[in-house]
Amino acid sequence: MAPVTSDSSAHRPPGANGLTAPGWHEASVADVRSRLGAPGPLDVDESARRLKTVGPNRLPEANRSGPLARLGRQLKNLLLLILLAAAGITALLGHWVDTTVILAVVVIQTLVGFLQEGKAEEALASIRHMLAPNAVVLRQDGRHTIPAELLVPGDTVLLESGDRVPADLRLEKVHGLQLDEAILTGESMAVDKTVDAQPGSAALGDQRNMAFSGTMVTTGTAQGVVVRTGTETEIGRISGLLRRTDTLKTPLLAQMDRFARYLSIIIVVVGILIFVAGTWFSGLAADELFMAVVGLTVAAIPEGLPAILTITLAIGVRRMAMRSAVVRRMPVIETLGAVSVICSDKTGTLTRNEMTVTALVAGGERYRISGSGYLPDGSVSRERGDEGATEAALELALAGTLCNDAELKLGEDPVRVVGDPMEGALKVLALKADNTLADAHARWPRLDEIPFDAEYRFMATLNHDHHGHTMVYLKGAPERVMAMCATELAADGSPIPLDEVAWQQAVDAMAGEGLRVLAFARRPMPRGTTSLSIDDVGQELELLGIAGFMDPPRPEVIQAIAECRQAGIRVKMITGDHAGTAGAIAATLGLGAGQGARVLTGAELDQAGDEALAGLARDVDVFARTSPEHKLRLVRALQAQHEVVAMTGDGVNDAPALKRADVGVAMGVKGSEAAREASSVVLLDDNFTSIVAAVREGRTVYQNLRKAIAFMLPINGGESISLVAALLLGLTLPITALQILWVNMVGSVVLAMTLAFEPPEPGIMARPPRPRSESLLEGFVLWRVVLVSLLFLTGIFAAWAWGMARSGDTEFARTMAVNTLVAMEVFYLFAVRYLDSASMTLRGVLGTPIVLGALAAVVVLQALFTWLPLFNAIFGSAPVDLAGLTFSVAAGVTVLMLLELETWLRTRLIGSGSRLLH
Ligand code: ATP
Repeated sequence: MAPVTSDSSAHRPPGANGLTAPGWHEASVADVRSRLGAPGPLDVDESARRLKTVGPNRLPEANRSGPLARLGRQLKNLLLLILLAAAGITALLGHWVDTTVILAVVVIQTLVGFLQEGKAEEALASIRHMLAPNAVVLRQDGRHTIPAELLVPGDTVLLESGDRVPADLRLEKVHGLQLDEAILTGESMAVDKTVDAQPGSAALGDQRNMAFSGTMVTTGTAQGVVVRTGTETEIGRISGLLRRTDTLKTPLLAQMDRFARYLSIIIVVVGILIFVAGTWFSGLAADELFMAVVGLTVAAIPEGLPAILTITLAIGVRRMAMRSAVVRRMPVIETLGAVSVICSDKTGTLTRNEMTVTALVAGGERYRISGSGYLPDGSVSRERGDEGATEAALELALAGTLCNDAELKLGEDPVRVVGDPMEGALKVLALKADNTLADAHARWPRLDEIPFDAEYRFMATLNHDHHGHTMVYLKGAPERVMAMCATELAADGSPIPLDEVAWQQAVDAMAGEGLRVLAFARRPMPRGTTSLSIDDVGQELELLGIAGFMDPPRPEVIQAIAECRQAGIRVKMITGDHAGTAGAIAATLGLGAGQGARVLTGAELDQAGDEALAGLARDVDVFARTSPEHKLRLVRALQAQHEVVAMTGDGVNDAPALKRADVGVAMGVKGSEAAREASSVVLLDDNFTSIVAAVREGRTVYQNLRKAIAFMLPINGGESISLVAALLLGLTLPITALQILWVNMVGSVVLAMTLAFEPPEPGIMARPPRPRSESLLEGFVLWRVVLVSLLFLTGIFAAWAWGMARSGDTEFARTMAVNTLVAMEVFYLFAVRYLDSASMTLRGVLGTPIVLGALAAVVVLQALFTWLPLFNAIFGSAPVDLAGLTFSVAAGVTVLMLLELETWLRTRLIGSGSRLLH
């Protein structure tokens, strides 16, 4: 084989640019292959060798924001700027201690934000890696699905509809291939492709025999040889970089950012007003007053909140990824928690997509097929009588193995299928029926094909043997296939008129057993026919029979569907399969009851007007023989009724419905790249239970965001009202500006952070979804913020007054106020942790390890604050005695008790059970 060097020119024939050799598109396939040193598929060693010299097939990622940029972003925070200004002025006034503490706060806050943003980015980067694209490549030992990164020039790549082209390819076989090349040429119409050599002068958009990396296959199938990879590809040369725009920006974060900004501005204005008014009547010296205003400013701004919300979302994204649901668009984390309807495919999502043919009907006989899995051990035997397969049954098995793109990896244990599992099952059937069918492909080479399309539900191939016989073999949905047949094959292999009624009964019987049914047909073609089009298939087919596939439901799905019912989420099955099969599987899964148990077909949906459709979409839970357009109509109809819809999909035609759904869910295993790109969540295991897990995580994230807000805002509220009250009443400040900075650090950095890690509350899937329009600052949270702010205010003044009465010492009284405030925060943290439950639970009291760790940290910090002479000097604090400590803890306990009482009264008065949230 020709050597491959890292020199890019080795794979780019000059000429297109006016140099000597012709471009890839000008050359014949044989020429291209010989120049690439790859007359046939590469072997594994050769591809590994090439990979070493040319490097991986990927574009360098756009620089992730470096640490400096990230640091810069932290300093854009309005609060930090206000603090810096305050530090500047205190320095001018000569309050050096204050300046130092304020600067220390700025540093800590910046550092925390910096580290958290880093963690969030890390979370995103790690899930991105999970979504790296794959490519189907033909190597000397057969077909493999490999990471697209590993492709090398000379590799043979197979394409099908919905794929993103993984490298620049010179096409060598195409079947109805159309590519969307808008990403390269801006041309939005899909382009037909061919294998013929093109003129040297052809511009990129006219190079009809090339498939360029990054473009999308809209229809058809193809095989091509890789000519360029990585940055050498056309797209690599244009952009050079893979741009990723994902950030953790969600509507909710944007809303909170705005909220924080307005709050900051209002607070600064109020601060200035108080400063001006205070110089008139408070009798405080200007610099003392200024320090009071600084205190007020830092007291009121929830500086740690944005960082906590970001990390809560990032943790949610990580947890979802651990449960096999990878979030592609960040805003969906919020929507997931509000999902009220999940529309799911059947095959592979609700069922295992591990197919076995268990029954056949051919030549008037029904057969039972023994064996399990993809191991070709088993037999085909008649249900009545014990003779073997008839001519008709063998012909069906032949059709099944020829009209087939799957490959069985018989050497592996367990035997694996590369390609469609249903087609894998047909390969197994052929081996069970007749061992000699193992090399049917070689004896009946394929001349042309009509690839499977969910729109018309069949697939056909044109095969010929060495005697010159040419035959169309076709398989597809029974009603589709029967409509094309005029005759059927009798047991002895002779054609007789088609008995449609009898076949329909056979199909219904199989479907009623929950089997997926496929029909097979053939048509002899004139000698010398080399191409196949839909018109050739026509009406003259000969029906060979039907096969029934067992695709067992995933056992864990039954539980997940029950969980959805409890959580007020409707589950709907929307499948391309037969109504009988869909109904039988739905029944085993416990899907749909009463009205919902009805099975509606795509044809019935077509007849329904918009109004009727709305009712059907709401009431029916099983939809069969649907096409991708039906999915789109159903999503629209459900959304019009204010449902929040999650919709699954796998094919390229599902993209519009996936985009339209509130949560588009693509299948990571069997889904096309087009479906993945249109969706906001990708399931790594195609399993329905992962959607439910993601919804649970979505609800948890939302709940934790509520908790963080409900925890942080009253701290700021209580502090700022205390200061305003003191200033307006002309009292000494119960807490100084520096002490407020201290409390806020302890509160937001140590305590509130634990809320991001809170596990779901036990009843989280036992209540209806929240309304889509619900704001985080809705009634209950606002009420709690106000109530707790007032409790904190009372606690601060009570501690201060108690301290003054006891010692007459301002420093002692202030330390009392600070310790009491922190104690109240700690107890309030426990109350917030079961915000959505009716009452405190043992779990709430004991806390998670991280809460207990935070608690220990707070105790140590407060001890330093109270007793360490250095801190006494810096913060103006003073040691307290046992009575003082008891007072603080008692205040905390009182807050907790009062909140318990409030919860009790609320549930009694409103009688709404667990919570008063919606
Ligand atoms: P779901 O929508 O739940 O994934 P599905 O896999 O049955 O169900 P489609 O893939 O749209 O949906 O298939 C629809 C129908 O087309 C199938 O029921 C089957 O009759 C037929 N079919 C599917 N795959 C093939 C294939 N490879 N060759 C021929 N016919 C097929």
